[in-house]
Order: sequence, then structure tokens, then C-alpha cells
Amino acid sequence: MSTSLLYHGFGVRDYRYVSTRYVAGGVVFVIERKPDTYCCAACGSQNVWRHGVMVRSFRTVPLGSKRVELEAEIPRLACQDCGLVRQAAVGFAEPRRTYTKSFARYVLELSRHMTIKDVACHLGVGWDVVKEIQKKFLHKHFDKPKLKHVKQIAIDEISTGKGHKYVTIVLDLKSGAVLHVGRGKGGDALLPFWRRLRTSHARIEAVATDMSPAYIDAVTTNLPEATLVFDRFHVIKLYNEKLSDLRRDLHRQLADTMQKEVLKGVRWLLLKRPENLDASRREPERLQEALRLNEPLAIAYQLKDELNEIWEQDDQETAEALLLDWIVYAESTGIRMLKQFAKTLRVHGFGILAWYDYPISTGPLEGTNNKIKTMKRQAYGFRDPEFLRLKILAIHRTTYALVG
Ligand SMILES: [Zn+2]
Repeated sequence: MSTSLLYHGFGVRDYRYVSTRYVAGGVVFVIERKPDTYCCAACGSQNVWRHGVMVRSFRTVPLGSKRVELEAEIPRLACQDCGLVRQAAVGFAEPRRTYTKSFARYVLELSRHMTIKDVACHLGVGWDVVKEIQKKFLHKHFDKPKLKHVKQIAIDEISTGKGHKYVTIVLDLKSGAVLHVGRGKGGDALLPFWRRLRTSHARIEAVATDMSPAYIDAVTTNLPEATLVFDRFHVIKLYNEKLSDLRRDLHRQLADTMQKEVLKGVRWLLLKRPENLDASRREPERLQEALRLNEPLAIAYQLKDELNEIWEQDDQETAEALLLDWIVYAESTGIRMLKQFAKTLRVHGFGILAWYDYPISTGPLEGTNNKIKTMKRQAYGFRDPEFLRLKILAIHRTTYALVG
């Protein structure tokens, strides 16, 4: 060991090597600050007097499988310029940390290939130390994504665990970057985002969301100029839910137990797209039988197909005509579920047809959702909501990717 190796191998400067001690499973290098480098931690003045000393040790990068510690006497310095008495700045470690900056860099390197648990285990430190290092790094690079040039965004909530825990996510549809992670769901989860958006002077053209009143209200209030686009799959999902309710109501009304049996098994078949029905399990036949038995269900099922057609037209005009036809027909059926859905479409039709101006969706958020699920299986420390938030903000940047 030499003072030069101390600098080039461990990133320690302004110290000189004193001695080596071997302990179980590791090595301790005793080092000493060069006296001519003493300076006040508060004002930087070199006009300081030693005022006692404290021995501190720091984990640093290992030598093979041997753990390495640096042990140094850190003097307390009385500054003759600003009058404060402070422990001298260590230089190679952050204040109040028991590991060096090069150790933190090494942890981040390993974190690109290993989970938090693996890194902690490999280095013989607690997983909270690894988490703390990752958290600081993520905070520095991802805490506040730049919003100035963002034009089109998608907003949706994502479940982060059991017990109805949600985060609300805003995605930049052009870059795929997560712009905001709000705790919970609904309008309040977006408040900090609107604040940052205002100061960024970004000009948002279009926003993709579902038809929930909370989002509609939040977007029209905060981005009155932006075009609201209702996500196709959320609209169909809502229709599917109503279709299931209708089947259940009809099932309840049927007196004949034979007929009940037929209707009972078709819930999932109703939700499937026709081309996905499995012929080997007689799914098309079973569905047809149920529909024959029940006219309202048959009509509602047919209308689902036609609802999908609204997004498949050549232009907005044709789509609008189709949407109006759909609404008028649905109202004329006298089926309550369809009448209610027609009403929803009357109110929200503008945002459905807006898809022809901005063919955007919340679909890309599904990808983010899947990555969060994978991450959750690998990671420790997700009970820390701030850590979770930072991890999600960094999720699209594979160059910075930390595994767990
Ligand atoms: Zn000072």
C-alpha cells in the first residue's frame, strides 16, 4: 500500500498512508490527513487550529472478497476566520456517512446487474445501506424531470400492491419518460405536477386519460387549451363491465334453472373478442346459445363490436356519424344499461372522436406498469414511498437501470 495507490485505487486524496491491520475477513488501512490540507468545513479557510480529534472508519471498495476499511483520525478544527469549531471535512466520504464515495459508486455499479439484496449480501452491508445509496443517486438524476418540451402526455393510475394502494403516473408520450408519480389516485395526486408544469411553461397539446370525472376535471382546469383524448381500451373496458352487470341481472331474473346454467358460463366469453373464442372448447356455440336465449344480451354484445368500430374509421367525420348512430340505436333498444352507456357517450363523445386529431392512448403506461411489477418482485424497501417514486421516475432509463 502506498499514498499513490490510496489515490488511484480508492479515490482518497490529501491523506497519506500510515499502516495496515489485518482483521477477520478484511483489511484496515490507517491513513492520516496531510496537515497542510486542513481547512474549515464551514468557510474553507486554512487559518485553523486543531481542537481535538476523532477516529472514524469507512467502508471502501473491497480487495477481491476481502472487505476494506479506511481508518483515519479526523481532527476538529477551530476556525480563526469564522469562529466555528467543526470536524474537518473528510473529502472522500459524504458528511455523516460510514462509507466512502468510491464505495457508493461501486454499489451503483453492482446495482446495474444485481438486486438490492444481492448487492447487500455480496458486500456484507445491510440492504438499507444499498437502498440509501441508490436513493441518493436517483434523487440527484430523476427527482424533477424537465417538462419544458413535453407536448403529449398520458395519465393513469397504477396499483402498487394489495389494499388498494395506487400511484398516479404521468407519462411523456414522445420520450416514454415518466414525468410524475403522485401518491394515491384522483385529482389530488396530480396537484404537484400542475404546479411544476406551470413553472416550466410547457405547452401541452393533448392528454390521454380514461373517462373518470376526476381526470377530466383536473385536465380541463389546468390545461384548458389541451385536447382531451379518452383512451380506447378504457372505454371498451367500461363497456365490458356494464355488459357483465347486464348478464348478471338477466341471470337473476331468469326462473328456469336450465337457462340459468347456459347464461352462467358465458361471462368471460362475452368479454372476449369474437376472433379470440376457442372453438375446441365450444366457446362460439356456447356464446351463441346464451345470446339466442336472451335478446338484450345479444343486442348489447353486438353493440360492443360496433363500439370498437368507432376507432377504425378513415376519418373523424365518418367516426362521428357512426358514434351518433350507435347512441341513437342504443337509446331505442329500451335496455337500461345501453341507454345509460349512450348517455355517457353523448357527454364524452368529443374525447373519443379527438383520437382522430391525436391518435394517442394510455397504452404506453401498460409497459410502465409491467416494469413496476417486475421491479416489485426484486426489490426491497418499497414500503418507502419516496424510494418507490424515484424508482418509477427512473424506470425508462435503461442506461441508469438499477435492478432491484
Ligand atoms: Zn471557517
